[in-house]
Parts: sequence; structure tokens; C-alpha cells
Amino acid sequence: MEYYFDNAATTKVRPEVLEAMLPYFSEDYGNPSSIYKIGQKTKKAVETARAQVAKAINAPAANEIYFTAGGSESDNWAIKGIADSYGEKGRHIITTAIEHHAVLHTCEYLESKGYEITYLPVDEYGLVSAEQVKAAIRPDTILVSVMFANNEIGTIEPVAEIGAVCREAGVLFHTDAVQAVGHVPVDVRAMNIDLLSMSGHKFYGPKGIGAMYIRKGIKIPSFIHGGAQERKRRAGTENVPGIVGMGRAIELAVSELDTEMPRLIGLRTKLINGIMDRIPYARLNGHPDKRLPGNVNIAFEFIEGESILLLLDMNDICASSGSACTSGSLDPSHVLLAIGMPHEKAHGSLRLTMGHFTTAQEVDHVLETLPPIVERLREMSPLYEQIKNKK
Ligand SMILES: *Cc1c(COP(=O)(O)O)cnc(C)c1O
Repeated sequence: MEYYFDNAATTKVRPEVLEAMLPYFSEDYGNPSSIYKIGQKTKKAVETARAQVAKAINAPAANEIYFTAGGSESDNWAIKGIADSYGEKGRHIITTAIEHHAVLHTCEYLESKGYEITYLPVDEYGLVSAEQVKAAIRPDTILVSVMFANNEIGTIEPVAEIGAVCREAGVLFHTDAVQAVGHVPVDVRAMNIDLLSMSGHKFYGPKGIGAMYIRKGIKIPSFIHGGAQERKRRAGTENVPGIVGMGRAIELAVSELDTEMPRLIGLRTKLINGIMDRIPYARLNGHPDKRLPGNVNIAFEFIEGESILLLLDMNDICASSGSACTSGSLDPSHVLLAIGMPHEKAHGSLRLTMGHFTTAQEVDHVLETLPPIVERLREMSPLYEQIKNKK
């Protein structure tokens, strides 16, 4: 049995979600575009899920929800789509330095096509302010894209304030809410959000399914050309089991927010305080309370996050580090660098993300296992030895 502390990377499908999906793999296999009964049944299931997603984010209408293949696709569509359809009006886009690569690399692609991108810096907690956004808006700005909550350090951005600034200035506002939906309250109306990306597998739904909220009246080209699915904006036969699972998952997650948020904040506090009490030279990355309920990210001086991960894995603990080494590069995370951490400290960061299935006993297990691992690794560090001997 594993101790799963990597819920920001992906989550386990909940049994209720799997149960809802299963019939759509076998007996209810009709194509939603077909007119006979088994086709109409799956069409109805897709529309039920669309309504579930719309309700979860307080979208005015279900037909403003478009199913995609995940968060990355939604981010690509939002940014390239708006750049394409509003390119006549202007070619300037505002985003932040700490976005997910699905946003950052899309912006870099647009730069190669002649668009100008402003990457707003963040403060030491990873926060960007509405004032910064306001000051960066120009007459040729067509889009602001600021993530709802950061996937590495868990910082929750002032999305409602940014939305108000954008609406006032008449600039479209997209938010990558992949880490937020199903974890904290999200309200596209109250927050003046024009486009919002989400992904099923980050809230106990299946992988390979996502959605985008596109406010009514916004011009955006089709992402996939072909059939008339998704109101002709995203062609291809629907991923019916995925869509049904995502609908059930979002409904469950949002209905449980009132109990799940305080429970996870309790576990988060226990884990952070427990680590701080037991391990010296440790510092919390991200904001102390403008933070995703399940996110803990801590920098340990003198050691490498990757080494901690290997030793944690030997104890069946799944976690993630502050560098992108796992993806074959040795660069420290752009998010940790953006909050002002020097390279060597960024390398010593560990991310532990909790979720629906995480228990207090599992947190205790981490608190017993982690301190000796950090101590053992530090004993191999000459710098740590020097500092210890000085004391
Ligand atoms: C996971 C994630 C994505 C990508 O979502 P996929 O469904 O895996 O493509 C995008 N943005 C953020 C903030 C994420 O955490």
C-alpha cells in the first residue's frame, strides 16, 4: 500500500465516479450523435454532465461548457483561440511567471508568431496583484491569463479582483483553474471570469477529460475541426465515459467542499507544523493561508529534493520535488525561482499534496519517516557538517 501525497499531479478515481462511468463502456455505448434510443441515452448523459460542470462553477448556462481532452488542451484553446480571433484588435497578452507550462509554452509559441507577452512577476508568496494587472493593460491587450491556484506552491491568486479589473478595462480574462475546481469555491459570474480551464483527473475523475467555460458571446475558433460536436467548436465523438465521470466527480467534490476544505486545512497544518517542529533549516514555500487546502511545499536546506523523493519512495511515500528533474531536465522549478529562491534552495524543495483519501494516520507516517531521511541526506552534505560543527 502506498502513501499517496501527490494529489496535485493526479488523483485516484472515486468509487462513485467509476460506478457512474462503467455502463458507458459497455451496455450504453451509443454515439451521442445518433438518433436511435441508445444514442439519445448517451447524449442525455453528456448533457447531464455538462449541467453538473456548469453548476459547479456557477456558469449562467450549460452550453457555455465545452468538453476537451484535459487541462492542457483547455489552456491551449483559450490562449491560442483568443489570440487568433482578437488578433486584429491587438497582439498583447498578460500572464504570470508562475503559470503551468500548458500556459507558458503556449504563450512562448505565440511570441514566435509575433504576439507580445507580459509575464508579471510574483511576490515571495507567489502572489500577483490586481494592481499589477491593471498597470500592465494597454490598448492592444486582448487577454489576461492568470492561474487560479498554483500547482506547485498552492498559492491562491486574487482572481475576483483581477476579474473585476479586466472587466472594467474590457479585456478578456482566462484562468487556469485546474488546481482550484473541486478544491476551493469557484464562481465564474462573481469573479468575472470569461474563460476557465479545468481537468477531470485533478478532482477524482478520470484522466484525458477536461472542460472549458467560454462565456457566451466570446469569439473563439474551433479547436478541432470536424463534426458538429460541442456546438461545432470541438469536433470528435465524445468521450462519454470520461464526460460522465467528470460530471459526477465535480458534483461530488463541490457538494463536499464545506467539510473537505476544513478537514484538509487541518491535515495541512498538522503536516506543516509537524515538519517545522522536527526538522531544522526548513521553510514553507507559498502563502501561509492563501493556499490550496491540501498543499504543502517545503524547502530543506543542504539537500536535493530528488534524493528525498527516492528515499520516500523506498518507504512507499509518493511525493514530488521542486525541480523538473523527473522530466529529464536539471532546471529548478520556474515557480520557485519566480518567488525569489536561489537555485540551490529550489533544488531542496519537497511538495506533499493531500486529498480526499488522505488520513491523519498517513500524515503521521510521513512525520515519522521524513525527519530521519532529511537527517541522513544532510549528513552527506559538507556544508551541513560545517554549520553543525560551528554550533
Ligand atoms: C495538471 C495541470 C494542468 C494540465 O492538466 P492535464 O489535464 O493534465 O492536461 C494544467 N494546469 C495546471 C495548473 C495543472 O495543475
